[in-house]
Amino acid sequence: MSVKEEILEQQAEESESLNMYHSTQAVIHEALRKLGYGEAMYELLKEPLRLLTVRFPVRMDDGSVKVFTGYRSQHNDSVGPTKGGIRYHPEVDEAEVKSLSVWMSLKCGITNLPFGGGKGGIICEPRQMSLGELERMSRAYVRAISQIVGPNKDIPAPDVYTNAQIMAWMMDEYSHLREFDSPGFITGKPIVLGGSQGRETATARGVAIVIEEAARKKGIDIKGARVVIQGFGNAGSYLAKFMHDAGAKVVGVSDVYGAIADPNGVDIDYLLDRRDSFGTFSKLFTNTITNKELFELDCDILVPAAISNQITEKNAYDIKASIVVEAANGPTTMEATEILDERGIFLVPDILSNAGGVTVSYFEWVQNNQGYYWTDEEVEQKLKKIMVDSFENVYKVAKNHKVNMRLAAYMVGIRKLAEASSFRGWV
Ligand code: GLU
Repeated sequence: MSVKEEILEQQAEESESLNMYHSTQAVIHEALRKLGYGEAMYELLKEPLRLLTVRFPVRMDDGSVKVFTGYRSQHNDSVGPTKGGIRYHPEVDEAEVKSLSVWMSLKCGITNLPFGGGKGGIICEPRQMSLGELERMSRAYVRAISQIVGPNKDIPAPDVYTNAQIMAWMMDEYSHLREFDSPGFITGKPIVLGGSQGRETATARGVAIVIEEAARKKGIDIKGARVVIQGFGNAGSYLAKFMHDAGAKVVGVSDVYGAIADPNGVDIDYLLDRRDSFGTFSKLFTNTITNKELFELDCDILVPAAISNQITEKNAYDIKASIVVEAANGPTTMEATEILDERGIFLVPDILSNAGGVTVSYFEWVQNNQGYYWTDEEVEQKLKKIMVDSFENVYKVAKNHKVNMRLAAYMVGIRKLAEASSFRGWV
């Protein structure tokens, strides 16, 4: 039985996140095999080098104490320090954080950043916590993981339900612990605390650039193209705006509670103006559709920009788009990827399309280390070059090796880690 078949067999009885983790391992195995690496390299790269689980008490507003569980996973630091966001979500678990850290390694490999992948998370429901509770929890988490993170070790950033304010509290806590100002400890900070121009919109900008490249390859004109976006958080909301400004028609958009559709184009400016800090807007409408219906809308480009496991074998046959661009991490299962391939739908994988976030995080870290800050134009121009080159590179590998864009992206992403690990003498 091949590693892929073995993994598929195990997956039948697993949780979604473990399933996702094992799918990732299967693609890593295949990518390394295509690159000519053997089992020893797979053994090294299939799992994170370090995973820290922490439990820490937080005083809640009603006087009670709640003990939270958090994680920080560091996939591989052969290329440089590890890098990746921290998510606050009730469904965070070990397997999810591990997968996300592996994907960060791959993203940094694709964009050629001097980092390996890391990721953190806290199991919590941030939408039901006050600002005070969020601050105390964020600071306590930094104290709990402080030994394994730092500007030259592992550099966190925002992810699902974390933002610039949370990064600011974390930077402040870390600076207190170290007794000197440490802006390079974390990225995605407010500009006044050493954040970079363009970081807030970077993920969406990167996705928009990749959409343009993909559309060009497929002969679709962005002007007038019909786009559906699932999710209205940091990635989805700014992407909707960029697509709208580029002349595309955003015909469907959703948040965690529901979706709205309009074949003439949804009024994006209105939604941006009225959404709350968690990207919620659908409560303003009575004529909402379900998430399932959103995926079935007639459109040219579909962008899952919310959470993982959204395109599965259950809905992959109903998708009408000819291009799917993954803005979220892990929105498409392995089975669904195969179905989309069979149906001739062009899929641009997450580790390529959403790498704009970590790219501008890298710019932020460089600026923090140098104490010299760039203009918005400089950031935008440098981001564009990296995203276009990364897309072209992956596209070329896909064509040359006759593989899909996901496998090609894994091949490009893993190559640097494998080379660095062999030069270091690890394998
Ligand atoms: N959380 C983002 C991601 O998944 C950004 C990570 C970073 O900026 O380090 O790519």
